[in-house]
Amino acid sequence: MNEKQEYTILNVDDDEGARYAKSRILRRAGYRVFDAGTGADTLKLIKAAAPQLVLLDVMLPDINGIDVCRAIKTDPASAHIMVLQISATHVTGADRVHGLEGGADTYLAEPVDAGELLATIKALLRLYNREEENRRLLNQLRDADRLKDEFLAILAHELRNPLHPIRSAVDFMRLKGSSDPEIQSCRDILDHEVSHLTRLVDDLMDVSRITHNRIELRKERLSLVEVLKSAAASVRPIIESHGHQLHLSFPDKRMDMEADEVRLTQIFINLLTNASKYTPDGGQVWLSARQENDNAVVTIKDSGVGISAENLPLLFDLFYQVDPSVGRGADGLGIGLTLAQRLAELHGGTIRGFSGGPGKGSEFVVRLPIYENSADADSSDNDKDMAATSRRILVADDSPLTIKAVSMVWRSLGHQVESAPDGLSAVELAASYHPDVVVLDVGMPGLNGYEACQRIRTQPGGQDVVLIAVTGWGHDEARRNADAAGFDGLLVKPVRPEAILQMVDDIVKRRGSETSIERHSAADN
Ligand code: ADP
Repeated sequence: MNEKQEYTILNVDDDEGARYAKSRILRRAGYRVFDAGTGADTLKLIKAAAPQLVLLDVMLPDINGIDVCRAIKTDPASAHIMVLQISATHVTGADRVHGLEGGADTYLAEPVDAGELLATIKALLRLYNREEENRRLLNQLRDADRLKDEFLAILAHELRNPLHPIRSAVDFMRLKGSSDPEIQSCRDILDHEVSHLTRLVDDLMDVSRITHNRIELRKERLSLVEVLKSAAASVRPIIESHGHQLHLSFPDKRMDMEADEVRLTQIFINLLTNASKYTPDGGQVWLSARQENDNAVVTIKDSGVGISAENLPLLFDLFYQVDPSVGRGADGLGIGLTLAQRLAELHGGTIRGFSGGPGKGSEFVVRLPIYENSADADSSDNDKDMAATSRRILVADDSPLTIKAVSMVWRSLGHQVESAPDGLSAVELAASYHPDVVVLDVGMPGLNGYEACQRIRTQPGGQDVVLIAVTGWGHDEARRNADAAGFDGLLVKPVRPEAILQMVDDIVKRRGSETSIERHSAADN
């Protein structure tokens, strides 16, 4: 079979004689040809015959050929079809321009000789093939990108599951304490490395979110100064382990803003971690904030390795690292600053980097919009005493190691714990144990965490229980599902007991003081 048979051409002309002549040339050249005499028939045949090319006369009795062309090119289902517009004699340059602007791929004027027509069609079909190949490659790339995202999400989930019991075991060792300095230093190594692994997993997930603009903020009114304090507290162990001095300077205002607490904290943790990473042991790190009209200006400064002028503009590029062998650069992926900048922008702010040059330290300045008049800082000590209120906790997880490690931590903190290996047992146990707090793993066999939550909510007293979902899936969909199922909150593995207790406290505060939790605690004490 002639290979041209593979191509279908739709020949559109209202003049029967001219149409016949052109179709004959095309058929002789081996093309499969369909004929149409009106615009309406053309649009019908485009769907039915799926041609690769349309030979389109400008003058048609019903719809103007240029409008037919525009209809073909604007419909995503037919936009890839080549259109060769043919006009009657007396064409001006303006006619050609008009035709090409209507979307035609090329334009010929009658009389067209057979050789010119066939050569033009051949050229257009070559172009068609190239574009088809590009489209195929683009689709392949999109599929690969989607698969990569899915793979990353699964990988993160699989890594977070084992990190969860390891984190709890390390927390337990920390709570128990040990007088043996070697055991202490082993525990510190474990603690440090689990935190590092957790950060790497989170960063990996955030890369695909930032590249696809899929970071969703959960904004609420909060105090920027409190967020800065909490970020400073989170990085303090790393800072201290390198003998750095952390200098804090905050105004005595709360500096209120509309922000996502987790994401805002992440900005400052990233910048403070970098300050420590790129500062030799024993150096200085400063974190300060001040108000400029309705902006907060937060400065993170270090006495570290500094940055050369040519590298400064590149720091915020994804995966950019000046020299991974400098400082503890090999610990990172070159994601932190990109992410911090994106998060600042999502909050209506900016981040800029400054340095006097290599060896002269670095300074990162974050500007964020705040409410001009916010209340004075709360001077009361907000530190939570984790064992202050004894809670009745029910933990459900299908991993026996997680149950074991998490239960040990809760008990050593002075709470009562019961555990369930699956959703159904959790529901049954909740009915008899009357817990204050239920922490449910989302992915459990049989009855999953969402279903278990819904059932617990319908039990007597189920509305008063604080229900927290724990999952290895960090995407926003998990949050939406948890909200819909009736959870009070969701935490991503590995979860620290502080995070759960903080969440429980916030929820209890939100609900008001008259909750079953307060009643239980009073009865227990
Ligand atoms: P990572 O630290 O994981 O490499 P980042 O995106 O956080 O990635 O930072 C990008 C690069 O910017 C780092 O590799 C480092 O070269 C440089 N950098 C960031 N912060 C500092 C700093 N405080 N001092 C010197 N260099 C820094």
